Amino acid sequence: MKKIVVLATGGTIAGAGKPGEDLGYRPGSISGEELVKSVPGLSGIADLEVEQVCNINSDDVSSEIWIALASRIRTISARSNVDGIVVMHGTDTMEETAFFLDLVLDVEKPVVLTGSMRPATSLAPDGPANLCFAVGVAAGCNGAACRGVCVAFAGKVMDAVRVQKVHANDLDAFDAIGTACGEKLPKFSVDGVSSLPKVAVLYFYADADSALLECAAGRSAGIVIAGAGAGEFSKDWIGALARVKVPVVVASRIGRGNVLPEGLLVPGTVPAYSLPPQKAAVLLRLALTVTQDPVEIHKIFRTFV
Ligand code: ASP
Repeated sequence: MKKIVVLATGGTIAGAGKPGEDLGYRPGSISGEELVKSVPGLSGIADLEVEQVCNINSDDVSSEIWIALASRIRTISARSNVDGIVVMHGTDTMEETAFFLDLVLDVEKPVVLTGSMRPATSLAPDGPANLCFAVGVAAGCNGAACRGVCVAFAGKVMDAVRVQKVHANDLDAFDAIGTACGEKLPKFSVDGVSSLPKVAVLYFYADADSALLECAAGRSAGIVIAGAGAGEFSKDWIGALARVKVPVVVASRIGRGNVLPEGLLVPGTVPAYSLPPQKAAVLLRLALTVTQDPVEIHKIFRTFV
């Protein structure tokens, strides 16, 4: 039997509330050990070992937790008796954690993230089925393969670059958006790094106040704009950007499609290509650990055309 290490971080899959109810629960309430024990048949899929990394609502995840999680995965995957790793995680920021891990890990063994939309105390929780599915994917025993880091959820396996949460309530909450990233992913080292530089994501909307740009520039090492359409914004924002001195990446608030260099409104800004704003923020934070030069940052983002 394959050996899979399950890392528990919290989320709705570890959520508890009034028995039988789907709302008003507390994410990150039940331990990973308890959850794994409560799923019938799971121990028949793989030989499991469980470790608790944290027990949080994934909206509270930080770069410190990402870095600690990546370090645990690197150590565990180096063990010759381990075949794969499953990370139980809240769904809200699962795509960001998956993308971060893919950008900093160079491990051969599968790293599979999963979670659930209903708490463990629901009348019909989806966590047990998702966990069984993810363990099967990590063990390579249910026909679905995972190369590098992926998300296994509601019967689908999605790579870390393309996966996005696409529904706020449905059990089938994730999808792979866009085409697979052709070029090799850029990889970053977070050795000796305890946290990532802060960046701000600013959402453009009709008549949005451009003062937000200058305010964000004063508080962050970089800015991601969630622009309208293919990365557009008002004349007012174009004017304000001339006064912003930190690197600016332009994404689209649509979450699908591309922002390309030819469509940029302000010279010196960086197009996010196919990355949605929340993933552009992860990549910009990592890019800022190696360079502040927009030309170099652009080269890093180009991988995602
Ligand atoms: N807020 C929860 C979390 O991300 C939602 C979930 O897991 O579905 O931890």
